[in-house]
Amino acid sequence: MADSQPDCLFCRILEGDAPSTEVLSTDNTYAFRDINPMAPTHVLVIPRRHVTDAAAVGAEHGGILAEMFDSARQVADQEGLAGGYRLVFNVGDDSGNTVPHLHLHVLGGRRFGWPPG
Ligand code: 5GP
Ligand code: ZN
Repeated sequence: MADSQPDCLFCRILEGDAPSTEVLSTDNTYAFRDINPMAPTHVLVIPRRHVTDAAAVGAEHGGILAEMFDSARQVADQEGLAGGYRLVFNVGDDSGNTVPHLHLHVLGGRRFGWPPG
């Protein structure tokens, strides 16, 4: 898979060709506010290298996944989510996945139900 996909919205955000509100930037990840937030904090953490979704993740992605989780924890710290937060990867149509570039939702600032809707 190429590092960047020309028709991918999140690759375009990474390249500055589409706007975003930055929350955190690291060597291999970028975190920005979701355009349609589902909670007071709703941030997306993405790898700078294009990966389609969580089902396309393999052993070779171990490093980037660890960096994504590290970024998510930093986002939670920055956003003051000491009471807890929810991390979500959607995969496929049944989950509601809409953007085919791996992204970790960081949701917080309110109480969440379980099971999820
Ligand atoms: P998914 O449903 O694929 O797991 O999540 C995709 C997320 O991307 C959705 O929560 C949606 O609101 C968000 N999103 C879609 N387009 C844009 C955009 O152009 N900018 C930002 N910041 N978020 C977007
Ligand atoms: Zn992409």
